Amino acid sequence: MLLEVRDLHVYYGDIHALDGVSLALDEGELVSVIGANGAGKSSLLNCIMGIVPAGGGKILYGGREINNVKVHERAAAGIRIVPERARVFPRLTVYENLLTGRFGARDKGGLEEKLEWVYSLFPVLEERKTQPASTLSGGEQQMLAISRALLGDPGLLLVDEVSMGLMPLLVDKVFEVLSMLNRERGLSILLVEQNALASLGISSRSYVLETGAIALEGPSDRLLEDERVREAYLGL
Ligand code: ATP
Repeated sequence: MLLEVRDLHVYYGDIHALDGVSLALDEGELVSVIGANGAGKSSLLNCIMGIVPAGGGKILYGGREINNVKVHERAAAGIRIVPERARVFPRLTVYENLLTGRFGARDKGGLEEKLEWVYSLFPVLEERKTQPASTLSGGEQQMLAISRALLGDPGLLLVDEVSMGLMPLLVDKVFEVLSMLNRERGLSILLVEQNALASLGISSRSYVLETGAIALEGPSDRLLEDERVREAYLGL
């Protein structure tokens, strides 16, 4: 297993945001976690990244417990996050934002090739490379956040609600790239999403997170047929 989360708890003071979450992701898998507002999706990813502390349970990456490993060490080990709302550096240019993805990357060198590669995925970033990131649209900022993470040579990509606020055409484009990265380059991806239809559509397995706990899990194509999922998350 590349990632194993066992009985994970996250607390913010009295708020119990994650209440015993267990999940696993194998090398080369694209797994999604769907859930409504406030279900705990960001808490889950931020805890795996080390941005919020685990209040109980275990996180294992490549078989090694990482609960006490610092964020930058997790990044150096290959865990990279595309945070909610992209969180690009607004005053840095697109190019400078991309360079920040190189900090602590596992592979050294090859910067030009990596840049060419992300520019081929998202040509708009090359067109805008000298502009401050604050001038990009929401969708372009998401593309930049994905590309920044890719420059870090991730072993595991954590993607937090990348579809939020994007128009449907852009959601399709971004999900197509994530799916392609998984299929063609074997990139392991954990995707958390409110957009259940899109994320079930590109993942092999999924978990349904409800008020901090896993309510359902299984192959995504089966969850797409599940009555509860169809009613609560697909509006069918
Ligand atoms: P959304 O889709 O709205 O971002 P989410 O599924 O990502 O929601 P979280 O952001 O993980 O959910 O939030 C889970 C719960 O923890 C919510 O009740 C939220 O209000 C609470 N919470 C999250 N961050 C904090 C914080 N820093 N301090 C206090 N409570 C928090």
